[in-house]
Amino acid sequence: MPHYTEKAEKLTLPVLPLRGVVAFPSIPLSVEVTEEKDVAVCEQANREDGYLFFVCCRDLPEGEIKESDFYRTGTVVKIKQMLKLPEGTVRIMAEGACRASVLDMRVTEGFFEADVMCKTVFLESEGGVREEALINEVLTLVNEFVQYMPKVSPELMSAIHAIHTPGLVADLIACNLLIKYQDKQIILEEFEPLRRLEHLAVVMEQELNILRVEADIHRKVRSQIEDNQREYYLRQQLKVIEGELGEGDADSEIDEYYAKIKEAHLPEEVNDKLVKEVKKLAKTPYGAAESVVIRNYLDVCLEIPWTKLSRERIDLEAARKILERDHNGLEKVKERILEYLAVKKLNPQLKNQIICLVGPPGTGKTSIAHSIATATHRKYVRVSLGGVRDEADIRGHRKTYIGSMPGRIINAIIQAGTRNPLILLDEIDKMTQDAHGDPASALLEVLDSEQNKGFRDHFIELPVDLSDCMFITTANTLETVPRPLIDRMEVIELHSYSRNEKLAIAKDHLLPKQLKRHGLSRRQLRISDETIFDIIDFYTAEAGVRNLERELAALCRKAARVIVENGVKAVAVTSENLAKYLGVRKILPDKIYDSDEIGTVNGLAYTELGGDMLRIEAAVMPGTGKVELTGSLGDVMKESAHAAITYIRSHASEYGIDPDFYRTKDIHIHVPEGAVPKDGPSAGVTMVTALTSELSGIPVKRDVAMTGEITLRGRVLAIGGLKEKTMAAYKAGVRTVLIPWENERDLTEIDPVVRETLHFIPCRRVDEVLHEALVRPEPTLPCADTVSAAAAVPMSDMSSAMTGDQLPASAPLHSGI
Ligand code: ADP
Repeated sequence: MPHYTEKAEKLTLPVLPLRGVVAFPSIPLSVEVTEEKDVAVCEQANREDGYLFFVCCRDLPEGEIKESDFYRTGTVVKIKQMLKLPEGTVRIMAEGACRASVLDMRVTEGFFEADVMCKTVFLESEGGVREEALINEVLTLVNEFVQYMPKVSPELMSAIHAIHTPGLVADLIACNLLIKYQDKQIILEEFEPLRRLEHLAVVMEQELNILRVEADIHRKVRSQIEDNQREYYLRQQLKVIEGELGEGDADSEIDEYYAKIKEAHLPEEVNDKLVKEVKKLAKTPYGAAESVVIRNYLDVCLEIPWTKLSRERIDLEAARKILERDHNGLEKVKERILEYLAVKKLNPQLKNQIICLVGPPGTGKTSIAHSIATATHRKYVRVSLGGVRDEADIRGHRKTYIGSMPGRIINAIIQAGTRNPLILLDEIDKMTQDAHGDPASALLEVLDSEQNKGFRDHFIELPVDLSDCMFITTANTLETVPRPLIDRMEVIELHSYSRNEKLAIAKDHLLPKQLKRHGLSRRQLRISDETIFDIIDFYTAEAGVRNLERELAALCRKAARVIVENGVKAVAVTSENLAKYLGVRKILPDKIYDSDEIGTVNGLAYTELGGDMLRIEAAVMPGTGKVELTGSLGDVMKESAHAAITYIRSHASEYGIDPDFYRTKDIHIHVPEGAVPKDGPSAGVTMVTALTSELSGIPVKRDVAMTGEITLRGRVLAIGGLKEKTMAAYKAGVRTVLIPWENERDLTEIDPVVRETLHFIPCRRVDEVLHEALVRPEPTLPCADTVSAAAAVPMSDMSSAMTGDQLPASAPLHSGI
């Protein structure tokens, strides 16, 4: 333990307040005194013995200093020299004499004066190991310290290393190396030399920690700046090279983008996003793959009409005229559009009334949508959904994929160039679904008024408002359209055209259109109504008028050639010379048989081409009860066949059929033409009739055709497509058509010519159908119980027994026998 000697002396001295500076004993100090009061204190002291008490203020006080602002320890100094500087300030060179603590402080004649206790502590003996260890520790810290302080003078360093008095070393280091005056004050306040060294070590260690972190940060910042500088330098070089190669001026491109964004007056969110992308582009090297992606993105986004609207016309009369001018018939669609416009006029906010036009091809779905666009002054875009399998087709690919693009909806908007076009979503029934997601669900979002205000395309990544678009969808059938999608739309059905309707369309629209297109006048090509009927019947088999239009175009072409080559003035096409222009007849009419046949029945089907007469044939052979169904039949049709067999089993005796036929006979039902797939439940009655006829041997009337679904209990259920089916029956020469009882009310919709020509018999039950369809045997024949014997009568005998007369509708078949 070292021994100390303490020398203490009490003095009263004038006080010089120091700001941010701490004076130490034995160390010379130079301070500039600027305050008038302080200058006076110094001058007074200089005139007397030159001693002053230097004490530091705690917090760099502003304004008048109070006694409480001073630390309680300071240094007694002796002024060595005093220099007067301009403007009344002085610089004094002084040397610290000893530390002193304040006993009392007061203001005398406007100046601070203090009673202080000067104290100097000497180490009597050498400090020993502790002293040496402390000095070494401090010196090590000093060595590290100076690495962070390059301005430390070598003289100071040698002085520090040369002095061995622990207290003085501590003071010297604290005075010159410590940065904060608060730290210096801590060292000053310690009178005992070794403890002063200890305090110094602690303060320095703390300070060093800060310096180390600072240096680390500094190094990182520098390296980053260097990297940036390097990149900047390389980029500049690249620009020069690109300039030399003539590869676009990147800067002007960026400016161009900014200008385009500004001009477009985009919604805020869009604007911000695009500006961000341009900034990104500016930082990306010109030829980099990413820059291509960004440029593509910006180009697409800038093409979207974010704010452009076309002025919608809501003039009912003008719209009605346009719709009438462009299309014959289609009353329901026209009416609906006029209603839409009327409501829109009363409530302009009305959004999202989606119309779905369902009907066979060529019935004018697409072209009426076009007329609606014209009538309402909207831009028209058609989006074909046929064959769309992938959600990305609707919603786009994420822009990070190479070659990614926006989906069809956004493309349609871009194509339209306005935010409120009429978008025709064509053939929604031809959309399918695969592993890449369901396009129908994306379409749901497009069509939902709640969601489509902010439709998000994967590519665009920004909400696009579709709520002002008018959507019209088309489909051939609703069977393959998902239910939720159907629920969003208002379905309007378009039916196939009758012959007369087709004639009217041909005369009013198709022919004038084609004549104009081929540069012909009405007088140059004359076609009679009869000829047009012939074209309809023998050259086209369709529900709509697409092929008819094509054939008329062909006629126009041929006529043009004849006029030009032969120099004739006009060409008249008649039924006689039609084949010369259009070739031999393409369609041979399906005609009913000349005689009543066993096991063959005229069925009626509704196909994409309109109505068709399908003959259903049944054959029964001895066997083991096998049932064979051929003719590309769908599942529903096969099930109808089984239902028919079950029905006949339960009613076998009524028609003289062997009740064991399902075990002892093989049954084969065939529907020509074998290669055309067929499905649907409406062939039920036809199958029952064909089988009953074949099993019982009773022929079926040749001029009867039928349609209707059956139940196992023998009821006949309603079917669809009556208009088309009856038209097919009419064309084939059928005289009587058996229809389900519930379809009787649909008869008002069918073609008037057909209605007048054909005889319709509504049936509630299968036995009514059989009663009407099967040829009534002679009343003299054996009764029901022995009808099976009649079945054994040879065909030739059977047909000789046929009369074709009908029983009254209420009389069951067997009762009349
Ligand atoms: P869809 O879209 O139903 O398949 P389109 O709209 O393509 O049928 O029609 C085919 C052609 O038939 C078009 O040239 C169209 O103008 C014409 N067309 C169809 N229906 C009518 C009609 N009712 N009046 C006038 N032209 C019609």
